[in-house]
Amino acid sequence: MLSYDQAIKLILDNISPLPALEKPLPEACGLVLATAVSARWDLPSADNSAMDGFAFKFADQSPGSRLPVVGHSYAGHPFAEKVAQGSALRIMTGAPLPADCDTVVPLEDVREEGECICLTLSVKPGQHVRRAGEEFRHDELLLEAGTCLRAGEIGLLAAAGINQVKVHPAPRVAILSTGDELVELDQQPGPGQIINSNLHLLTARLREVGAEVVQLGIAADEEEDLDQRLQAGLQADLLLTSGGVSVGDKDQVQDALVRLGFEKIFWKVAIKPGKPVLFGKIGDKPIFGLPGNPAATAATCEIFTLPALRRLAGHSDPLPPRLRVRLKEKISGGGKRQTFLWGGLQPDGDYFLFTPSGRQGSGQNRSLQGACALLPVTIGSPDLEAGSLVDVLLMRLPSGHP
Ligand code: AMP
Ligand code: MG
Repeated sequence: MLSYDQAIKLILDNISPLPALEKPLPEACGLVLATAVSARWDLPSADNSAMDGFAFKFADQSPGSRLPVVGHSYAGHPFAEKVAQGSALRIMTGAPLPADCDTVVPLEDVREEGECICLTLSVKPGQHVRRAGEEFRHDELLLEAGTCLRAGEIGLLAAAGINQVKVHPAPRVAILSTGDELVELDQQPGPGQIINSNLHLLTARLREVGAEVVQLGIAADEEEDLDQRLQAGLQADLLLTSGGVSVGDKDQVQDALVRLGFEKIFWKVAIKPGKPVLFGKIGDKPIFGLPGNPAATAATCEIFTLPALRRLAGHSDPLPPRLRVRLKEKISGGGKRQTFLWGGLQPDGDYFLFTPSGRQGSGQNRSLQGACALLPVTIGSPDLEAGSLVDVLLMRLPSGHP
Protein backbone atom coordinates (compact mmCIF):
# COMPACT_ATOMS: atom_id res chain seq x y z
CA MET A 1 0.00 0.00 0.00
CA LEU A 2 1.13 3.56 -0.71
CA SER A 3 2.97 5.37 2.11
CA TYR A 4 2.08 8.82 3.42
CA ASP A 5 5.20 10.31 1.78
CA GLN A 6 4.41 8.72 -1.58
CA ALA A 7 0.81 9.91 -1.40
CA ILE A 8 1.83 13.50 -0.61
CA LYS A 9 4.28 13.48 -3.50
CA LEU A 10 1.62 12.22 -5.93
CA ILE A 11 -0.75 14.95 -4.78
CA LEU A 12 1.76 17.75 -5.20
CA ASP A 13 3.03 16.41 -8.53
CA ASN A 14 -0.51 16.46 -9.88
CA ILE A 15 -1.54 19.97 -8.87
CA SER A 16 -0.39 23.36 -10.15
CA PRO A 17 -1.19 26.83 -8.84
CA LEU A 18 -4.46 28.39 -9.99
CA PRO A 19 -4.09 30.94 -12.81
CA ALA A 20 -3.14 34.35 -11.45
CA LEU A 21 -5.45 37.34 -11.55
CA GLU A 22 -5.25 41.03 -10.72
CA LYS A 23 -6.69 42.01 -7.33
CA PRO A 24 -6.91 45.33 -5.52
CA LEU A 25 -4.24 45.28 -2.80
CA PRO A 26 -6.72 45.48 0.12
CA GLU A 27 -8.37 42.24 -1.08
CA ALA A 28 -5.11 40.34 -1.41
CA CYS A 29 -4.31 39.56 2.23
CA GLY A 30 -3.49 35.86 2.62
CA LEU A 31 -2.94 35.38 -1.13
CA VAL A 32 0.34 34.55 -2.84
CA LEU A 33 2.03 36.88 -5.35
CA ALA A 34 2.27 35.48 -8.87
CA THR A 35 4.76 38.13 -10.03
CA ALA A 36 7.56 40.06 -8.37
CA VAL A 37 6.69 43.60 -7.28
CA SER A 38 8.95 46.66 -7.47
CA ALA A 39 8.56 50.09 -5.93
CA ARG A 40 6.84 52.85 -7.88
CA TRP A 41 8.89 55.57 -6.22
CA ASP A 42 11.64 56.33 -3.70
CA LEU A 43 10.67 56.10 -0.05
CA PRO A 44 11.01 58.48 1.65
CA SER A 45 10.46 60.69 -1.38
CA ALA A 46 12.51 63.46 0.28
CA ASP A 47 14.74 63.89 3.35
CA ASN A 48 12.57 64.30 6.45
CA SER A 49 12.80 64.41 10.20
CA ALA A 50 12.78 61.23 12.29
CA MET A 51 11.98 63.17 15.50
CA ASP A 52 9.94 66.05 16.83
CA GLY A 53 12.65 68.70 17.23
CA PHE A 54 14.65 71.43 15.50
CA ALA A 55 16.50 71.28 12.19
CA PHE A 56 19.64 73.28 11.31
CA LYS A 57 22.89 72.98 9.43
CA PHE A 58 25.42 70.99 11.41
CA ALA A 59 28.26 73.34 10.42
CA ASP A 60 26.37 76.34 11.94
CA GLN A 61 26.37 75.09 15.53
CA SER A 62 28.44 73.78 18.41
CA PRO A 63 27.40 72.80 22.00
CA GLY A 64 26.01 75.92 23.69
CA SER A 65 25.03 77.57 20.38
CA ARG A 66 21.96 79.77 20.43
CA LEU A 67 19.99 79.57 17.20
CA PRO A 68 16.98 81.75 16.32
CA VAL A 69 13.95 79.70 15.20
CA VAL A 70 12.65 81.02 11.87
CA GLY A 71 9.56 78.93 11.29
CA HIS A 72 8.17 75.42 11.34
CA SER A 73 7.81 72.38 9.12
CA TYR A 74 5.02 69.90 9.88
CA ALA A 75 4.20 66.58 8.21
CA GLY A 76 2.09 67.59 5.20
CA HIS A 77 3.05 71.28 5.64
CA PRO A 78 6.61 71.93 4.50
CA PHE A 79 8.48 75.13 5.29
CA ALA A 80 8.63 76.95 1.97
CA GLU A 81 11.31 79.57 2.66
CA LYS A 82 15.03 79.53 3.19
CA VAL A 83 16.48 78.73 6.61
CA ALA A 84 19.11 81.40 6.92
CA GLN A 85 22.61 80.45 7.96
CA GLY A 86 22.96 80.11 11.74
CA SER A 87 19.24 79.64 12.41
CA ALA A 88 16.95 76.68 13.12
CA LEU A 89 13.56 75.40 12.07
CA ARG A 90 10.99 73.79 14.34
CA ILE A 91 10.26 70.44 12.70
CA MET A 92 7.99 67.51 13.54
CA THR A 93 8.38 63.81 12.71
CA GLY A 94 7.85 63.10 9.01
CA ALA A 95 8.05 66.77 7.99
CA PRO A 96 10.31 67.59 5.01
CA LEU A 97 13.79 68.76 5.85
CA PRO A 98 14.64 71.95 3.92
CA ALA A 99 17.74 71.83 1.70
CA ASP A 100 19.51 74.33 4.01
CA CYS A 101 19.36 71.89 6.96
CA ASP A 102 21.02 68.52 7.46
CA THR A 103 20.66 67.68 11.16
CA VAL A 104 17.83 67.41 13.72
CA VAL A 105 18.00 67.72 17.48
CA PRO A 106 15.05 66.33 19.49
CA LEU A 107 12.81 68.75 21.42
CA GLU A 108 13.91 67.21 24.73
CA ASP A 109 17.61 67.90 24.00
CA VAL A 110 17.37 71.71 23.72
CA ARG A 111 16.47 74.58 25.99
CA GLU A 112 13.98 76.97 24.45
CA GLU A 113 14.60 80.64 25.26
CA GLY A 114 11.99 82.92 23.70
CA GLU A 115 12.38 82.71 19.93
CA CYS A 116 15.70 80.86 20.19
CA ILE A 117 16.99 77.41 21.10
CA CYS A 118 20.13 76.64 23.05
CA LEU A 119 21.88 73.39 22.24
CA THR A 120 22.70 71.64 25.49
CA LEU A 121 24.32 68.48 24.11
CA SER A 122 26.72 67.76 21.31
CA VAL A 123 25.07 66.52 18.12
CA LYS A 124 26.22 64.25 15.29
CA PRO A 125 26.10 65.46 11.69
CA GLY A 126 22.95 64.21 9.93
CA GLN A 127 21.38 62.80 13.10
CA HIS A 128 17.66 62.02 13.19
CA VAL A 129 17.24 62.54 9.46
CA ARG A 130 15.58 59.95 7.22
CA ARG A 131 17.23 60.23 3.81
CA ALA A 132 15.30 60.17 0.54
CA GLY A 133 15.23 56.62 -0.86
CA GLU A 134 16.64 55.22 2.38
CA GLU A 135 13.93 52.52 2.62
CA PHE A 136 13.76 51.70 -1.08
CA ARG A 137 14.41 53.21 -4.48
CA HIS A 138 12.12 53.57 -7.46
CA ASP A 139 12.05 50.20 -9.30
CA GLU A 140 13.75 48.38 -6.42
CA LEU A 141 12.49 44.79 -5.98
CA LEU A 142 10.24 44.68 -2.92
CA LEU A 143 8.71 41.20 -2.96
CA GLU A 144 9.44 38.08 -5.00
CA ALA A 145 6.82 35.98 -6.77
CA GLY A 146 5.64 33.30 -4.35
CA THR A 147 5.48 35.64 -1.33
CA CYS A 148 2.36 35.26 0.78
CA LEU A 149 0.86 38.68 1.45
CA ARG A 150 0.27 39.25 5.17
CA ALA A 151 -0.27 42.52 7.00
CA GLY A 152 3.41 43.50 6.83
CA GLU A 153 3.67 42.91 3.09
CA ILE A 154 0.37 44.68 2.42
CA GLY A 155 1.61 47.71 4.38
CA LEU A 156 4.92 47.73 2.48
CA LEU A 157 3.22 47.55 -0.92
CA ALA A 158 0.75 50.25 0.07
CA ALA A 159 3.65 52.53 1.08
CA ALA A 160 5.19 51.88 -2.34
CA GLY A 161 1.97 52.88 -4.11
CA ILE A 162 1.06 49.40 -5.37
CA ASN A 163 -2.72 49.31 -5.52
CA GLN A 164 -3.15 46.21 -7.71
CA VAL A 165 -1.30 42.92 -7.40
CA LYS A 166 -1.18 39.77 -9.48
CA VAL A 167 -1.98 36.88 -7.16
CA HIS A 168 -3.20 33.31 -7.18
CA PRO A 169 -6.82 33.37 -5.98
CA ALA A 170 -8.05 31.60 -2.85
CA PRO A 171 -9.16 28.13 -3.98
CA ARG A 172 -12.89 27.38 -4.03
CA VAL A 173 -13.61 23.99 -2.54
CA ALA A 174 -16.86 22.11 -3.09
CA ILE A 175 -17.88 19.71 -0.32
CA LEU A 176 -20.26 16.82 -0.88
CA SER A 177 -21.36 14.63 2.01
CA THR A 178 -22.59 11.17 1.13
CA GLY A 179 -24.69 8.77 3.14
CA ASP A 180 -28.34 7.75 3.50
CA GLU A 181 -28.02 8.13 7.27
CA LEU A 182 -27.16 11.86 7.17
CA VAL A 183 -29.47 14.75 8.01
CA GLU A 184 -28.68 18.46 8.10
CA LEU A 185 -27.87 20.34 11.28
CA ASP A 186 -31.29 21.94 11.61
CA GLN A 187 -33.07 18.57 11.43
CA GLN A 188 -33.85 16.13 14.23
CA PRO A 189 -32.14 12.81 13.45
CA GLY A 190 -34.60 9.91 13.28
CA PRO A 191 -33.69 6.35 14.26
CA GLY A 192 -30.34 5.41 12.69
CA GLN A 193 -29.71 8.91 11.42
CA ILE A 194 -26.86 11.26 12.32
CA ILE A 195 -26.07 14.89 11.65
CA ASN A 196 -23.90 15.72 8.63
CA SER A 197 -21.24 16.98 11.00
CA ASN A 198 -18.36 16.44 8.58
CA LEU A 199 -19.72 19.24 6.44
CA HIS A 200 -19.29 21.67 9.32
CA LEU A 201 -15.91 20.31 10.37
CA LEU A 202 -14.56 20.62 6.84
CA THR A 203 -16.17 23.99 6.14
CA ALA A 204 -14.75 25.47 9.34
CA ARG A 205 -11.25 24.15 8.75
CA LEU A 206 -11.16 25.16 5.08
CA ARG A 207 -12.30 28.66 5.95
CA GLU A 208 -9.66 28.84 8.68
CA VAL A 209 -6.99 28.30 6.04
CA GLY A 210 -8.45 30.86 3.66
CA ALA A 211 -10.34 28.67 1.17
CA GLU A 212 -13.81 29.50 -0.12
CA VAL A 213 -16.38 26.78 0.45
CA VAL A 214 -19.27 25.68 -1.77
CA GLN A 215 -21.61 23.27 0.00
CA LEU A 216 -23.21 20.65 -2.24
CA GLY A 217 -25.54 19.12 0.35
CA ILE A 218 -25.99 15.43 1.08
CA ALA A 219 -25.98 12.81 -1.67
CA ALA A 220 -27.94 9.63 -1.05
CA ASP A 221 -26.05 6.37 -1.55
CA GLU A 222 -27.46 5.93 -5.04
CA GLU A 223 -26.21 6.58 -8.55
CA GLU A 224 -28.35 9.39 -9.86
CA ASP A 225 -28.14 11.67 -6.85
CA LEU A 226 -24.39 11.09 -6.50
CA ASP A 227 -23.73 11.76 -10.20
CA GLN A 228 -25.72 14.98 -10.24
CA ARG A 229 -24.16 16.45 -7.13
CA LEU A 230 -20.63 15.45 -8.06
CA GLN A 231 -21.12 17.06 -11.46
CA ALA A 232 -22.11 20.32 -9.74
CA GLY A 233 -18.93 20.13 -7.66
CA LEU A 234 -16.75 20.25 -10.76
CA GLN A 235 -17.36 24.00 -10.97
CA ALA A 236 -15.09 24.52 -7.96
CA ASP A 237 -11.28 24.42 -7.99
CA LEU A 238 -11.18 21.28 -5.86
CA LEU A 239 -13.87 18.75 -4.97
CA LEU A 240 -14.04 17.04 -1.60
CA THR A 241 -16.40 14.23 -0.75
CA SER A 242 -16.90 12.64 2.64
CA GLY A 243 -17.96 9.03 3.13
CA GLY A 244 -18.61 6.23 0.65
CA VAL A 245 -14.99 5.52 -0.33
CA SER A 246 -14.34 2.36 1.63
CA VAL A 247 -15.24 -1.20 0.61
CA GLY A 248 -18.80 -1.30 1.99
CA ASP A 249 -21.83 -2.27 -0.11
CA LYS A 250 -22.96 1.35 -0.14
CA ASP A 251 -19.58 2.95 -0.86
CA GLN A 252 -20.21 4.18 -4.39
CA VAL A 253 -18.31 7.46 -4.66
CA GLN A 254 -15.45 6.07 -6.72
CA ASP A 255 -17.80 4.41 -9.22
CA ALA A 256 -19.77 7.63 -9.57
CA LEU A 257 -16.58 9.62 -10.16
CA VAL A 258 -15.45 7.13 -12.79
CA ARG A 259 -18.74 7.67 -14.64
CA LEU A 260 -17.74 11.36 -14.81
CA GLY A 261 -14.28 10.64 -16.25
CA PHE A 262 -12.25 10.26 -13.06
CA GLU A 263 -8.57 9.38 -13.33
CA LYS A 264 -7.66 7.62 -10.07
CA ILE A 265 -4.21 8.55 -8.77
CA PHE A 266 -4.41 6.60 -5.55
CA TRP A 267 -6.88 4.82 -3.34
CA LYS A 268 -5.84 3.65 0.13
CA VAL A 269 -2.76 4.86 1.98
CA ALA A 270 -0.98 3.07 4.85
CA ILE A 271 -2.13 5.60 7.46
CA LYS A 272 -4.37 5.51 10.51
CA PRO A 273 -6.94 6.99 10.59
CA GLY A 274 -8.00 7.53 6.99
CA LYS A 275 -6.77 4.45 5.10
CA PRO A 276 -9.50 4.44 2.40
CA VAL A 277 -8.69 7.99 1.20
CA LEU A 278 -9.10 8.43 -2.55
CA PHE A 279 -7.35 10.98 -4.75
CA GLY A 280 -7.57 11.65 -8.47
CA LYS A 281 -8.62 14.14 -11.11
CA ILE A 282 -11.32 14.83 -13.62
CA GLY A 283 -9.47 16.84 -16.25
CA ASP A 284 -7.26 19.14 -14.17
CA LYS A 285 -9.64 19.20 -11.23
CA PRO A 286 -8.25 17.56 -8.10
CA ILE A 287 -10.73 15.42 -6.19
CA PHE A 288 -10.39 13.89 -2.74
CA GLY A 289 -12.72 11.19 -1.50
CA LEU A 290 -12.30 11.42 2.26
CA PRO A 291 -13.45 8.59 4.50
CA GLY A 292 -16.62 9.36 6.46
CA ASN A 293 -15.50 8.70 10.02
CA PRO A 294 -15.05 12.17 11.51
CA ALA A 295 -11.49 11.79 12.86
CA ALA A 296 -10.47 10.16 9.55
CA THR A 297 -12.18 12.91 7.53
CA ALA A 298 -10.37 15.54 9.56
CA ALA A 299 -6.97 13.83 9.43
CA THR A 300 -7.04 13.21 5.69
CA CYS A 301 -8.21 16.76 5.07
CA GLU A 302 -5.37 18.07 7.23
CA ILE A 303 -2.55 15.94 5.86
CA PHE A 304 -3.60 15.67 2.20
CA THR A 305 -6.20 18.26 1.23
CA LEU A 306 -4.60 21.27 2.91
CA PRO A 307 -1.24 20.80 1.15
CA ALA A 308 -3.18 20.45 -2.13
CA LEU A 309 -4.94 23.73 -1.41
CA ARG A 310 -1.69 25.45 -0.56
CA ARG A 311 -0.28 24.25 -3.88
CA LEU A 312 -3.36 25.63 -5.72
CA ALA A 313 -2.96 28.90 -3.84
CA GLY A 314 0.64 29.19 -5.08
CA HIS A 315 2.55 28.61 -1.82
CA SER A 316 6.11 27.53 -2.48
CA ASP A 317 6.16 25.18 0.53
CA PRO A 318 2.75 23.51 0.72
CA LEU A 319 3.62 21.00 3.45
CA PRO A 320 2.32 21.56 6.98
CA PRO A 321 4.78 23.33 9.30
CA ARG A 322 6.55 20.98 11.69
CA LEU A 323 7.21 21.90 15.29
CA ARG A 324 9.47 20.17 17.79
CA VAL A 325 7.54 19.51 20.99
CA ARG A 326 7.92 17.52 24.21
CA LEU A 327 5.67 14.49 24.71
CA LYS A 328 3.47 14.60 27.80
CA GLU A 329 2.95 10.85 27.86
CA LYS A 330 4.33 7.66 26.40
CA ILE A 331 3.10 6.68 22.91
CA SER A 332 3.20 3.06 21.81
CA GLY A 333 5.02 2.42 18.55
CA GLY A 334 5.09 -0.66 16.37
CA GLY A 335 2.11 0.26 14.17
CA LYS A 336 1.60 -1.33 10.76
CA ARG A 337 0.36 1.94 9.32
CA GLN A 338 1.72 5.44 9.86
CA THR A 339 -0.44 6.74 12.68
CA PHE A 340 -1.47 10.34 13.14
CA LEU A 341 -2.46 11.24 16.68
CA TRP A 342 -4.45 14.36 17.44
CA GLY A 343 -3.28 16.35 20.42
CA GLY A 344 -3.21 19.65 22.24
CA LEU A 345 -0.23 21.92 22.91
CA GLN A 346 0.58 23.83 26.09
CA PRO A 347 3.50 26.22 26.53
CA ASP A 348 6.02 24.57 28.88
CA GLY A 349 9.52 25.98 29.20
CA ASP A 350 11.51 25.85 25.98
CA TYR A 351 9.06 23.57 24.16
CA PHE A 352 5.33 23.12 23.85
CA LEU A 353 4.04 20.05 25.61
CA PHE A 354 2.03 17.74 23.31
CA THR A 355 -0.80 15.85 24.98
CA PRO A 356 -2.49 13.27 22.75
CA SER A 357 -6.27 13.43 22.78
CA GLY A 358 -7.78 10.73 24.95
CA ARG A 359 -9.96 9.20 22.29
CA GLN A 360 -8.24 8.60 18.96
CA GLY A 361 -10.68 6.20 17.25
CA SER A 362 -11.55 7.24 13.71
CA GLY A 363 -15.24 7.44 14.64
CA GLN A 364 -14.53 9.77 17.55
CA ASN A 365 -15.68 13.33 17.20
CA ARG A 366 -13.97 14.17 20.47
CA SER A 367 -10.39 13.48 19.33
CA LEU A 368 -10.30 16.85 17.60
CA GLN A 369 -11.55 18.87 20.50
CA GLY A 370 -8.71 21.22 21.52
CA ALA A 371 -6.35 19.66 18.96
CA CYS A 372 -3.56 21.90 17.70
CA ALA A 373 -1.30 19.35 16.05
CA LEU A 374 -0.98 15.85 14.64
CA LEU A 375 1.81 13.58 15.79
CA PRO A 376 2.97 11.24 13.00
CA VAL A 377 4.17 7.90 14.35
CA THR A 378 6.00 6.02 11.62
CA ILE A 379 5.41 2.38 10.73
CA GLY A 380 7.30 0.12 13.16
CA SER A 381 8.46 3.07 15.27
CA PRO A 382 9.78 2.20 18.75
CA ASP A 383 7.72 3.46 21.68
CA LEU A 384 8.04 7.21 22.16
CA GLU A 385 8.84 7.93 25.79
CA ALA A 386 7.17 10.61 27.90
CA GLY A 387 9.39 13.70 27.96
CA SER A 388 11.07 12.95 24.63
CA LEU A 389 11.21 15.50 21.81
CA VAL A 390 9.17 14.74 18.69
CA ASP A 391 8.08 16.66 15.58
CA VAL A 392 4.37 17.32 15.13
CA LEU A 393 2.45 18.73 12.18
CA LEU A 394 1.24 22.08 13.42
CA MET A 395 -2.34 23.13 12.77
CA ARG A 396 -2.40 26.15 15.04
CA LEU A 397 -0.84 27.50 18.20
CA PRO A 398 -2.90 27.12 21.37
CA SER A 399 -5.07 29.80 22.99
CA GLY A 400 -6.45 31.22 19.81
CA HIS A 401 -3.16 32.48 18.36
CA PRO A 402 -3.43 32.48 14.57
P1 AMP B 1 -18.59 5.65 5.23
O1 AMP B 1 -17.19 6.05 4.92
O2 AMP B 1 -19.60 6.25 4.30
O3 AMP B 1 -18.71 4.17 5.33
O4 AMP B 1 -18.88 6.24 6.67
C1 AMP B 1 -18.11 5.82 7.78
C2 AMP B 1 -18.71 6.35 9.05
O5 AMP B 1 -18.69 7.77 9.00
C3 AMP B 1 -20.16 5.97 9.24
O6 AMP B 1 -20.36 5.71 10.61
C4 AMP B 1 -20.92 7.19 8.79
O7 AMP B 1 -22.17 7.31 9.39
C5 AMP B 1 -19.98 8.30 9.22
N1 AMP B 1 -20.18 9.49 8.37
C6 AMP B 1 -20.19 9.47 7.04
N2 AMP B 1 -20.40 10.70 6.54
C7 AMP B 1 -20.53 11.51 7.63
C8 AMP B 1 -20.79 12.91 7.79
N3 AMP B 1 -20.95 13.70 6.73
N4 AMP B 1 -20.84 13.41 9.03
C9 AMP B 1 -20.68 12.59 10.09
N5 AMP B 1 -20.44 11.28 10.00
C10 AMP B 1 -20.38 10.73 8.80
MG1 MG C 1 -21.52 6.05 3.83
